[in-house]
Amino acid sequence: VPDELLEAGPAVRRPTVPVPVGKVIVGGDAPVVVQSMTNTDTADIDGTVRQVAALARAGSEIVRITVDRDESAAAVPRIKERLLRQGIDVPLVGDFHYIGHKLLADHPACAQALDKYRINPGNVGFGAKKDRQFSAIVETAVRHDKAVRIGANWGSLDQELLTALMDENAKLPKPAEARAVTREALIRSALMSAALAEEIGLPRSRIILSAKVSAVQDLIAVYTELSRRSDYALHLGLTEAGMGSKGIVASTAAMGYVLQQGIGDTIRVSLTPEPNGDRTREVQVAQEILQTMGLRTFVPLVAACPGCGRTTSTTFQELAKSVQDMIRERMPEWKKSYPGVEALNVAVMGCIVNGPGESKHADIGISLPGTGEIPSAPVYMDGKKVGTLRGPNLQVEFRKMVEDYVAK
Ligand code: SF4
Repeated sequence: VPDELLEAGPAVRRPTVPVPVGKVIVGGDAPVVVQSMTNTDTADIDGTVRQVAALARAGSEIVRITVDRDESAAAVPRIKERLLRQGIDVPLVGDFHYIGHKLLADHPACAQALDKYRINPGNVGFGAKKDRQFSAIVETAVRHDKAVRIGANWGSLDQELLTALMDENAKLPKPAEARAVTREALIRSALMSAALAEEIGLPRSRIILSAKVSAVQDLIAVYTELSRRSDYALHLGLTEAGMGSKGIVASTAAMGYVLQQGIGDTIRVSLTPEPNGDRTREVQVAQEILQTMGLRTFVPLVAACPGCGRTTSTTFQELAKSVQDMIRERMPEWKKSYPGVEALNVAVMGCIVNGPGESKHADIGISLPGTGEIPSAPVYMDGKKVGTLRGPNLQVEFRKMVEDYVAK
């Protein structure tokens, strides 16, 4: 067997400086952290508490909220208090743009309640004003001992820096190279701001960097380079990833590649929700990216075949969905009683072609009868056939077997 097969798996994580964000550590040896962001008006305390709680219950380990005006800054400590009263101690990050320096100065209780401040170096001001306003936010973070994410963004790039770099590289002939200059500007914006924050007195152990772009190849190039040039903890995310499957596919392609290189300490999957759509979807997708890559385990995942002409009924899709739903529902309780249950593998397969083989690879699996097969479904546990199910109660009986397996 070639060494490449023996050693298959993600690269060793690139060493970064660990940063505490409330009770959660980002970077160093800590597992890659899942985070998300609310889309409520933060001044709406009820709505924001409800959404932060839902995101935290779905598995978001850090939640970011918008702090864009006095009313939202004033609401932050009350939101934190209400969450704690519900037993939800999820670290909160304040997302500041344009006037973060003023909001933090005018609302010290907000500065204290937040666990991390996100600053966008592209819109904190211009020229000398920029340095003053950036410094004011960093000084507040130093005073309150809070983490800061310096979050550069392709869509709000520091125009002074970009213009200077464009001038320096004016002779570049092709548009592709102009794009490279923009990538460089994004990286430098993050690194120069981080260096300034350190000069002001914020230790490296309180600094997280991100440099978000909306295209997969840009993200891979920018983060590979950012990681090569520094050991700051890195927040990964594709910005404006988009709606539905496009957002999921683009985020997975970009972040999957970068994570495989051992780069990235926390991830956020930015999905544009359907109107009134479920915000927790982005948490689920982030968890699934990390779990399917073998980087973390959150919830047992059900492996199911796609079905084909050999399956004319929908029995196996219904069974796969019902088992996955049951697992998600039972997890909070299972987790308390059965440590390690997250790593369980379940397979629900449509016929004998791949069914028995895949079921044997799982901890517990079932191979349903395809069209024309004998109407019985063998069940496998730990690679061995343990019985056969048939008849109308098959779904209930298999779910019971999964329950018993977990208990065992
Ligand atoms: Fe089709 Fe059977 Fe393969 Fe499922 S396992 S995709 S039913 S051949």
